[in-house]
Amino acid sequence: MNCTSDLDQVIDSIKQVEEDIRNVEANIKAVEVELKKDGLSEKDVDYYREEKRQMREEKRQLREKENKLRDEKIKLQEKEKLTDGRPPPKKTRQPVQPAMKSPPGRPGNTKRRRMSHTEPTLPPCRLEGNRSDHQIVIAPQQRRCIYCSYLFLLAKIEGKEDPPRPREPSRKCLYCQVHICKDHWNVFHAIGS
Ligand SMILES: [Zn+2]
Ligand SMILES: [Zn+2]
Repeated sequence: MNCTSDLDQVIDSIKQVEEDIRNVEANIKAVEVELKKDGLSEKDVDYYREEKRQMREEKRQLREKENKLRDEKIKLQEKEKLTDGRPPPKKTRQPVQPAMKSPPGRPGNTKRRRMSHTEPTLPPCRLEGNRSDHQIVIAPQQRRCIYCSYLFLLAKIEGKEDPPRPREPSRKCLYCQVHICKDHWNVFHAIGS
């Protein structure tokens, strides 16, 4: 590891965050379109408003992260200028710290992608890694179950009336970094199918 790989990592992370922001913006637009439709029930309006609120918050957090990464990038670029192409001084033990702290679980897991409202899909991480990596952790906040949301969006696309609202568990998969309700843990991870 040297400065260059740190810098590359930061540049990569910035690209990821930018993509995440675009994704959230597209979903906010999709929700706004839904909200403008006639004949929405009060429950639907509440649902979409809450969805929009959460996505705005998410966008704000992503922007913050983007700014931090950009600062980091500038710092690393300056550091690189100082060493001026010469190999960086040998560090005693301790590898270089990664630019951004990854959440526990999957290494380098900086992606937390919101599901598309027009083409809902489940994240591929659910089938990756070892079975034992997928551990239940209790998160401080409750969020919608990813699988409930997936079913809800599919039902909406199929035009089903009043599909069941997603549950909001605190349980989360350590590896996938998404909230999953009790009923959907196995089906989400394709256990026993
Ligand atoms: Zn669920
Ligand atoms: Zn998982």
